[in-house]
Amino acid sequence: MTLPDSHTTVNQALAWAVETLRDISDTPRLDAEILLAHALGWSRARVLAGVRETISDDTLRMFRTLVQRRAAREPVAYLVGRKEFYGLEFIVDQRVLVPRPETETLVDAALEWARQRRSPHNTLLIADIGTGSGCIAIALAVHLPNALIYATDLSADALTVARQNIELHGVADRVTLLWGDLLAPLPQPVDLLVSNPPYTVLEDIDAGVRLHEPHLALNGGSDGLVVYRRLLAAAPRALRPGGALMLEIGATQAEAVMSLARQAFPTAAVRVVHDLAGRDRVVTVETADG
Ligand code: GLN
Repeated sequence: MTLPDSHTTVNQALAWAVETLRDISDTPRLDAEILLAHALGWSRARVLAGVRETISDDTLRMFRTLVQRRAAREPVAYLVGRKEFYGLEFIVDQRVLVPRPETETLVDAALEWARQRRSPHNTLLIADIGTGSGCIAIALAVHLPNALIYATDLSADALTVARQNIELHGVADRVTLLWGDLLAPLPQPVDLLVSNPPYTVLEDIDAGVRLHEPHLALNGGSDGLVVYRRLLAAAPRALRPGGALMLEIGATQAEAVMSLARQAFPTAAVRVVHDLAGRDRVVTVETADG
């Protein structure tokens, strides 16, 4: 299908894009609508209401480029520079992993623990390890107004993006960014450690993810568990008494990560939490008081 060079309507542009994206995307129509809305500077609702309107040549050129980049499997979030996570908007680009809906399960589990913990009167100290865009740390900061949060990353580039998101959400006074490897940069033990560490085997994942998203955020080594081993070995010294640790996992990793968690925390309660699709998604480790 070809796209006319001028007097193109919204409908024609969308039809061309859906056709172009059919083979590479599970959601070609949604992708097309989001990219056209971005090119037009309109909301998606405005696009859907304006399907008979004509698009300017400049907008059409921009849309064509966006669709071609999407056809090369670039994530829609990078093309528009934004991604919604936990009801909040985040700035994203190639320097950070795109926030995933399943990671909201980790935020839910962390919020639930934080709200039910036994001594809710002192300031809650949290650390998000490998913060990337900052989406987990910022969602927690927004929903826990009394928490102080450290957010670490080994990628200085990622921290630049996280800084923008912290400012966007007005939580700079309570989220402290720290550069370094896993728990190493933490200045003190915390009550709650959360992390969505790299846990994939790169050869096994979706080609678009592997081509465009940062390998530092994805690569869990030859068995996907390399970072969990290092993180869990170091975690006991980074937690205050009665603290908890929550880790996102790949859907097939629960048994392996729970076993590593029990080695590191022999007396803790170790559980697995499912995501909305019913897959194993988070391992929680709650230590005993004192
Ligand atoms: N869920 C991501 C994916 O499957 C991986 C995220 C990670 O390694 N932490 O692409």
